[in-house]
Amino acid sequence: MQITHPLNVLKFCPKCGSPEFHQSGDRSLKCDQCSFHFFFNSAAAVAALVTDGEGKLMLTTRAVEPDSGKLDLPGGFIDPGESAENAVKRELEEELSMKVKSLEYIGSAPNEYIFSGYSVFTLDMAFRVVPESVTGLVAMDDILDYRFFAEDEIDYTQIPAPSIKSFVKQYFLK
Ligand SMILES: [Zn+2]
Repeated sequence: MQITHPLNVLKFCPKCGSPEFHQSGDRSLKCDQCSFHFFFNSAAAVAALVTDGEGKLMLTTRAVEPDSGKLDLPGGFIDPGESAENAVKRELEEELSMKVKSLEYIGSAPNEYIFSGYSVFTLDMAFRVVPESVTGLVAMDDILDYRFFAEDEIDYTQIPAPSIKSFVKQYFLK
């Protein structure tokens, strides 16, 4: 198990502060003092597959850690209480000022990355997105830039997230 795994990182109960906070089963910690039971679950996230009409796929350049400067699909975490569909629309608006015309669920893939010394587990859900327009877009928020890529223009070593890499490869198989 990685040293960044929650079982190795979390030393104190987040509710009462007790150090009597121990592993309970494979993926939870329980407090002996106040009985608080903390589970680590996958966080839900979305990724958008947007094309330019010629079959090229939009990739963004990340502006934030982890993997700042590397390639990604537009998207992000689903807010608590939010639907995946709404998260796609919200993220595309926030990151690119893009309006979504239609979207279709493609499939999901798990991902794990380290953020502030802590392993974060996500379930990334991919959506095929038809935008209202691909002109007048602006890279904002947590992306630096965006570009449409033909398959032979993509350097897969620049896409660090295995889930995102698999969505991109899958897109070009069709
Ligand atoms: Zn406690």
